[in-house]
Amino acid sequence: MVLYRKYSTKAVAHTIKTYSEFTIPYPYPVAQSVEAANGMEYPMICFNYGRTEKDGTYSEGIKNGMLGVVIHEVGHNFFPMIINSDERQWTWMDEGLNTFVEYLTEERWDNKFPSKRGPAWTIVDYMKLPKDQLEPIMTNSENIVQFGPNAYSKPATGLNILRETIMGRELFDKAFKTYAKRWAFKHPEPADFFRTMEDASGEDLDWFWRGWFYGTDPVDIAIDKVTIATPDLNTPPREAKEIKYKVDKPAVNDFEDISKIRNREDKNITFYVDKDKETQDFYYRYDRGQEKVDNNKEYTSKFEGTEPLTQKEKDKFKDLTAYQIDFVNKGGLVMPIILEFTFEDGTKLTDKSSAQIWRMNEQKVSKTYYFDKKLKSIQLDPMRETADIDTSNNFWSNDGGTSQASKFELFKQKEGGNTRGASNGKVNPMQAAGKK
Ligand SMILES: [Zn+2]
Repeated sequence: MVLYRKYSTKAVAHTIKTYSEFTIPYPYPVAQSVEAANGMEYPMICFNYGRTEKDGTYSEGIKNGMLGVVIHEVGHNFFPMIINSDERQWTWMDEGLNTFVEYLTEERWDNKFPSKRGPAWTIVDYMKLPKDQLEPIMTNSENIVQFGPNAYSKPATGLNILRETIMGRELFDKAFKTYAKRWAFKHPEPADFFRTMEDASGEDLDWFWRGWFYGTDPVDIAIDKVTIATPDLNTPPREAKEIKYKVDKPAVNDFEDISKIRNREDKNITFYVDKDKETQDFYYRYDRGQEKVDNNKEYTSKFEGTEPLTQKEKDKFKDLTAYQIDFVNKGGLVMPIILEFTFEDGTKLTDKSSAQIWRMNEQKVSKTYYFDKKLKSIQLDPMRETADIDTSNNFWSNDGGTSQASKFELFKQKEGGNTRGASNGKVNPMQAAGKK
């Protein structure tokens, strides 16, 4: 009994304290943990395993298992008993949310605690399974085949990814606490959780709920190709050139659609510009053929060239290298792109693009970086925080500096070129007609 007696009550106290911090203060007078053969939760009392050998020794596995089960079963007071979801309909709202806070609690018990449910890399083996062996988290409890990974680990891991990688701890914790406060002693459904996490944080997380909770796609982002380019310091300046053009015709639609016709025929509609004479400018008349300009006359416009680079500018850009990195989304689920750059001088740099980088194209995306020192290698997701199922395509190296660089042209614009869009330098019809 030395194991249970030594740790159980302390683990109960730590659980109540930690859960109260992440959700709402524990509202009941007691919390009890009774030694038993397995783990099972009831309001204010639970039964947990953790027996020593006959000689009083025990394995580390039994010790950590006992701590985990005490935290978990005491934690059920919060999910699903206080924040009272329907566990028979949505197991993940009960076991998943509880496993997530269990994970946070274990991590605060001992920095060396070997948590198996929560870290992104621990879900990879499950996410790798063939699609016919997976169901979305949003599956009714009775139809789930792999109960443990589906209802416990995957939701807990998803929340941890949201917390550590997507939203950040501060924003996530605030939103999660808001969910607990808002739904304590009430009956939340999945949409209540999704909605609260979004409106309490101000983040659009629809893409995440859709991928992680409603889908079975894994994360597998790959570095497809890296294209290297250095500036061509001897790019000849672009020469000025002239182009011919004619003045703009009236800006009216070619085809008069039904709405325009009906508006005109409707006796209840009067058009503002017809009522208010002050709005009837040159173009009011131009559009109605009352002002004429010669639309066949040719004008000439000059395009400015560029200036040659000075030696100082050449020196500034001589070590510049551009790296265009092409990524492909092989898994289907989008995630932030986290890159660790290692330079030839041994220094490192980390850069993170949010998952919104995929919003225009979920299959492939490119990003270009400019560095003034040479890159040795690129590691995608160095901390294994996105649950990427194939890390063999997450690395690129410059093969000892033999990668071929192409050249990109470098131009210097002339001073004082642009003027707030007011004029593009071309003659407009008012000018052509000599009117103001
Ligand atoms: Zn449970």
